[in-house]
Amino acid sequence: MLHIQDETQITCPYCGETISILIDSSAGSQEYHEDCSVCCTPIFFSIAIDHEGNLIQIEAKRDDD
Ligand SMILES: [Zn+2]
Repeated sequence: MLHIQDETQITCPYCGETISILIDSSAGSQEYHEDCSVCCTPIFFSIAIDHEGNLIQIEAKRDDD
């Protein structure tokens, strides 16, 4: 099975640093928490992927938004 991971840069909503995250676009749209590699705060990611596995949108949000 083809397993695709796209490395994408996002801005941490807590510390404002740019960090790289890996998105598994074969898994479809997903929401999860991942710790910022700079400030270690869990960021909420909302990732939209279409049925062909193309990344449509990435949102990195604070839990308290
Ligand atoms: Zn951070």
